[in-house]
Amino acid sequence: MSIDTRLAPARPFRVIGTGAARNQDVDLVECVACGRQGVTTFLEPDKRPLATIWWPMSESEAKAMRIYPHHFVRCIHCGHVFNKSFTYADVPYTRKSNLMFNQGTYWKGHLQAIRQLLLRSLPATPVVVEIGCGDGSLLREMAKSMPAGKFYGFDPNAASVTEDGVEFRGELFEPNTHLRQLRPDIIICRHVLEHLQQPMRFLEQIAVVASVGTTPVRMYLEVPCVDRAISICRLSDYYYEHNSHFTTSSLRAMLYRVGGVIESLDRYYCDEVLGAVINYPPERKMKEAAAETLGHLQSSQQALTNIGAQLDVLARRDVRVAVWGGTGKASSFMNLCGVDSNRFPCVVDSDSDKWNTYVPGTGQCIQSPNVLLHHPADIILIPMSWRARDIAQEMRRRGITCSQILIEHQMQLVDFESGDHPY
Ligand SMILES: [Zn+2]
Repeated sequence: MSIDTRLAPARPFRVIGTGAARNQDVDLVECVACGRQGVTTFLEPDKRPLATIWWPMSESEAKAMRIYPHHFVRCIHCGHVFNKSFTYADVPYTRKSNLMFNQGTYWKGHLQAIRQLLLRSLPATPVVVEIGCGDGSLLREMAKSMPAGKFYGFDPNAASVTEDGVEFRGELFEPNTHLRQLRPDIIICRHVLEHLQQPMRFLEQIAVVASVGTTPVRMYLEVPCVDRAISICRLSDYYYEHNSHFTTSSLRAMLYRVGGVIESLDRYYCDEVLGAVINYPPERKMKEAAAETLGHLQSSQQALTNIGAQLDVLARRDVRVAVWGGTGKASSFMNLCGVDSNRFPCVVDSDSDKWNTYVPGTGQCIQSPNVLLHHPADIILIPMSWRARDIAQEMRRRGITCSQILIEHQMQLVDFESGDHPY
């Protein structure tokens, strides 16, 4: 028997309130769904034990359970509810699994409806990944319907075995590794996001990896929905293991924030569950940005090689080299390019506050430029190219001369007076 528990389209709920409205201070905490700052207290803060991940085996154990801070706040932008005192590491998922009870008749009907929804959109030999698969019941059923497909269930509490056509992996899903490795037609992520410290950031990881990939990544997300719970002020929903409580509005805000194409967003199971299908396509702009950055990385490696070789030549020649500038960008250049104190001991700086201090990392004593009047340099190296014009003018003012000024430009040291550069 098929039971369709979906109630569509989603309709707004009204929030009940008692007493007169009063202003509440806005806390500048970042919303874990939409990423904007600004929350207000949603439930009076208190401390309670874990509610679902730990089943005490005696009355004394139950009463002695550690208590955790519950301070549920609500985002003033998207309406998301979350525990601002939540720490994911405090929930002992590795000691006890967190399996959903899937046997209720109507809940089974919901699972069947979702399975049909997913199967309809898949090719004949699909690759399906489920993040946080629990006992894998959904994947096992899907594998039965599509025996030619490949099905992977990720869950840190699962044993790494292959059963009923499903390869279970007892590990966390790592977008950078597993998206490239498995290239799934769909990723299913049901009743996982509400447990995470940063659900939006987790989703963003998948979207970003997809954006620089070659094929779109489709996802089915499912989370509990608190639209009704808020509208009737139902208290039982808010416990430690569920950090996040999505409303239709906050899930939509999170999906918009992450990007991609929202194919559907619906409420199911008497409006107590939200389900969304999203498509994260490859993004040309991001791929171009990544390619451009690779170009910069390669150029910077070439610059280090070229400048290093030029410095080696300078060090071998019988010339006195002075470096003008000893902190900030000059120090950064000297450490990067190997302007060491043995080969290049003379460093001067225009700023008298820096005199008699030492170059971070390389250790030359920073001196007044006037030292070059008494001990002239043949070559003055100015690491901060964009300040070279001012420094050349200062040299003329102080009466400092040299045979050549060198600056860094386009992956090498060039002559400031005769070289081709924009400074
Ligand atoms: Zn928000």
